[in-house]
Amino acid sequence: MTTITGDQALIKRINTAVVLEAILRAAPLSRAQISESTGLNKATVSSLVQDLIDNSLVREIGRGESSGGRKPVMLEFIASSGYSIGIDLGVNYIRGVLTDLRGSVIAERTASLRQVEPEPVLLALFRCIDDLIAAAPDSRYGIVGIGVGVPGLVDESGTVLYAPNLKWREVALRKMVAERYAVPVTIDNEANCGALGERKYGAGRRIGNLVYVSVGIGIGTGLILQKELYKGASGFSGEMGHLSVEAFGKPCGCGNRGCWEMYASEQALLSKASELGLNDLESLLASAEGGREDVRALFGEVGEYLGVGIANIVNVFNPDAVIIGNRMNKARPWIEDHIRSTVVQRALGFHLRKVQLLFAELGERSAMMGAAEMATAGFFIQLKSA
Ligand SMILES: [Zn+2]
Repeated sequence: MTTITGDQALIKRINTAVVLEAILRAAPLSRAQISESTGLNKATVSSLVQDLIDNSLVREIGRGESSGGRKPVMLEFIASSGYSIGIDLGVNYIRGVLTDLRGSVIAERTASLRQVEPEPVLLALFRCIDDLIAAAPDSRYGIVGIGVGVPGLVDESGTVLYAPNLKWREVALRKMVAERYAVPVTIDNEANCGALGERKYGAGRRIGNLVYVSVGIGIGTGLILQKELYKGASGFSGEMGHLSVEAFGKPCGCGNRGCWEMYASEQALLSKASELGLNDLESLLASAEGGREDVRALFGEVGEYLGVGIANIVNVFNPDAVIIGNRMNKARPWIEDHIRSTVVQRALGFHLRKVQLLFAELGERSAMMGAAEMATAGFFIQLKSA
């Protein structure tokens, strides 16, 4: 009788993860191809593949092309063996998505939020998650995790320490969501989620160093450095909405003054727009489309302020790309040239040789897709350590 030592069990887990990753990356492929691409011998691959098949993560899908001899049985990952939920908790909206384990969208829900206090927002959040769970097809693993992006500072325990635009302090969000649903829950800043969403599925694919600028009611930033989300020492990076762009400027809810988001956010745009008798982004966009020069000038001004902050970011991080996302993404035709010319004027020339200015390909869905991706990534990590 052989006993499996701790070391052997660890090696098996690592090899299982290697095989699963090979299949995720390049399926359909055969056992022989996995053996070639991973360097594991054929007997090991066969036994690990059988485990993955027994666990409903991989299936055989018939025979592929032969390279002489018998046609090999091809394998693929079963993306429908579990589902993830991703939520983007905005200041005035909530957006949720149900995806399979490959990130294909199965269901989507949105609702507007009229109150910002934790209690009504939690009710809306739970309603959204309940709806998405109800939309999930039956599967082996069910809901594997819930990711939630919030517009504020989140600590390692998933507590929202401070969300100025929601007026939240010390809200133990992960605990509350995990208690209700009994699945792994990840809470992160919405801009981090957006950065991850764009990196995985959007404008940031194949870009190693990028800054995602989420321009909604406030401004948040998510950093991908060397292909990984950069979280800072305590997970608090990304509050660049509070960069000072006007030394003696308007007071901000954070206690400072002249913060970037006081001049370049949707909120900044709307407070100026009220002088023109317009009070939401959609009617501003329609007016700009309809040729109103005063509204176009307003977008131009916000674009210029966005450019000021982006020039600072480019000087500090020297990224390959800056991606503008969230609500202001919709105003691209009216802000893009202004952002571009301001960045060219203000950033150091050396940086400009390389940096690309991009707009979120997922539009307003970047953060919820990234939040769902966080939940899925957590499931794979847990498989490796199970
Ligand atoms: Zn501020």
